[in-house]
Amino acid sequence: MLNVKISRDVKVTLYRFTDYFKGFERVEAVRELFGDKTEKVLDELKVEFISRRGYMGVSDQNGHLIISTQYLKNGDKREIYLDIIHELVHIKQFMQGAKLFDISLDYPDRPTEIEAYKHAVKEARRIGMTEKEIYEYLRMEWMSDEDVAKLAKAVGVRI
Ligand SMILES: [Zn+2]
Repeated sequence: MLNVKISRDVKVTLYRFTDYFKGFERVEAVRELFGDKTEKVLDELKVEFISRRGYMGVSDQNGHLIISTQYLKNGDKREIYLDIIHELVHIKQFMQGAKLFDISLDYPDRPTEIEAYKHAVKEARRIGMTEKEIYEYLRMEWMSDEDVAKLAKAVGVRI
């Protein structure tokens, strides 16, 4: 017998996206995703901040954003911005009932990732990033060079 008591039904603390991220409702790349519902979607969007290392993602349980506090603090501002654009595509996919994490496919092959990266790449070009900078943005430390090249090709980035 374990002589302890554990409260197991705990809540994750969620914050309002718009309390931490301002002005995204005016970004054309965001309006392209949600149209007239942009304000409503962003107003209702919740964020979970985590202390683990990593970047950001979308919960496939309830569609909230998950962001590493370390990344938010130390990451490159343009990359954080583009990641949010990328994740908002996943939010839209989640709202449409898409399966976000199809583990039967490698990361660079998942249609949900390709769609999200294509949207972020388009925005990266609009804010003036070079193809080389965008290529480097696509690289994550856990990806092989082949995976980066494959992803770049899939989303139309050539260096
Ligand atoms: Zn993604």
